[in-house]
Amino acid sequence: ACCELCGKQVSYRSITYYCHLCRSYFHKGCLTIIYPKIHEHLLTYLRRKLPVGCDACGFSSPDDIDMFGCLQCDFFVHRSCIFLPRVIKLTRHSHCLSHGRFSSGYGGAYACIDTTCDYVVHSTCATDNRVWDGIDVEGKLEEGSSSSKDASLEEMDDKTVHHFSHEHGLSRIHVDEECWQLCEACILPIDMGTFLRCKECSFALHEECARLPQEMDHPLHRHRLTLKVQMNINEGFFTCSVCKQYHCGFMYKCRYCGTFKMDAKCASFTEPFKHITHRCPLYLRLENHGYNTSSYLCCGCHKKYPTIVATCTTCEDFSFDFKCLNLPPVVRFKYDIHPLYLYFDTEHNKKQLLEKRQESYSWCDVCEEEIHENLLFYICFDCRISLHVKCILGNYPYMKPGHNIKVEDLNIQIASNTGACRPMCHKCHSLCRDKLVFKEEDLCFCSLTCIRYYL
Ligand SMILES: [Zn+2]
Ligand SMILES: [Zn+2]
Ligand SMILES: [Zn+2]
Ligand SMILES: [Zn+2]
Ligand SMILES: [Zn+2]
Ligand SMILES: [Zn+2]
Ligand SMILES: [Zn+2]
Ligand SMILES: [Zn+2]
Repeated sequence: ACCELCGKQVSYRSITYYCHLCRSYFHKGCLTIIYPKIHEHLLTYLRRKLPVGCDACGFSSPDDIDMFGCLQCDFFVHRSCIFLPRVIKLTRHSHCLSHGRFSSGYGGAYACIDTTCDYVVHSTCATDNRVWDGIDVEGKLEEGSSSSKDASLEEMDDKTVHHFSHEHGLSRIHVDEECWQLCEACILPIDMGTFLRCKECSFALHEECARLPQEMDHPLHRHRLTLKVQMNINEGFFTCSVCKQYHCGFMYKCRYCGTFKMDAKCASFTEPFKHITHRCPLYLRLENHGYNTSSYLCCGCHKKYPTIVATCTTCEDFSFDFKCLNLPPVVRFKYDIHPLYLYFDTEHNKKQLLEKRQESYSWCDVCEEEIHENLLFYICFDCRISLHVKCILGNYPYMKPGHNIKVEDLNIQIASNTGACRPMCHKCHSLCRDKLVFKEEDLCFCSLTCIRYYL
């Protein structure tokens, strides 16, 4: 015979209850549980389906059949919620969170142990295995998660700063015109705002990228991450686990999950996130759907979601994947003296555009093909120039020209495709149109895909 509740065999050596009416067996340990951390009294299994909410997670459903209760205290709890951790540390919040019952419509939830902080998370959300590292830190609290050794920048004097990744001193420079230097961390051009330039060589960093700490807790991963400036990867580039783009710049790596890697742009994400094309703040959302659900599309590129998106909690169905979220808000185009802005067509943005008496943006000035107005694209508000994202940034915006990489044992050099005459791809025999080409001695390839198929 088997226990009605856990489905496991009942042996005559274990203490077992038998119900004569329904002829069912029950392990004693499945009917009653004593676990003082959740409740001081004995908890008893409730056989009748009762529409009571769980005091640990705050949720109730009419089909909850695995509920336990202490009747004298009016305390009810799911079996799975009895053993919820008491104190946890999530990478998305700087303090520890402790489990408790709250009156503010949350039922049971995790709240910040710092009483001046009003951070609260549903129990089910807080213990999702993509969010929580699985460790109950009750009694083993150690503070100082953000010690000063994590800082990457050091101010030497009022003219010189030092970045831990570079031997020379850097000076802080403000630009608002094209300077065609690339940031070593994110590989994007430096043409707006403050950046740090080496006094002796070509090394440069965006101020924002230079401030990325050497170690950090980040909401996009449940473990602590370490910054690698020399990525020490055989291939010379990596695929970001979040935005799925190829990168040659700085990399954050998880010590525990060898496979998790994140680039400087994704690492710069903080909540709430202000995106240049959207009025409301965006928040992280973990998706539970399978990859075949076609209804979940990124608003910026209309590609299917990966599992992590940034979403608007006010507007219906507004989400960006991290590829679109990370697009630079402003770019330079060599045939336009003005900067071009990332643009997304909403009623609000349309009105702004009309005020500037600009109504047409339907053709891309690079490829001369149509621009679909419900995708992200770049626009110059003064000259009516509009560009596809791909046409201005290329297929590999975070790959660095001049850098050597390894693809399937071939030593490849990444090169800018700026010459007057375009090379022909050795594999697909078409002209290389992307901003970058991949060279193996005399051979030239238009894409990583062509290199892989060549072999
Ligand atoms: Zn529960
Ligand atoms: Zn807090
Ligand atoms: Zn940068
Ligand atoms: Zn230098
Ligand atoms: Zn990324
Ligand atoms: Zn990890
Ligand atoms: Zn997208
Ligand atoms: Zn185009």
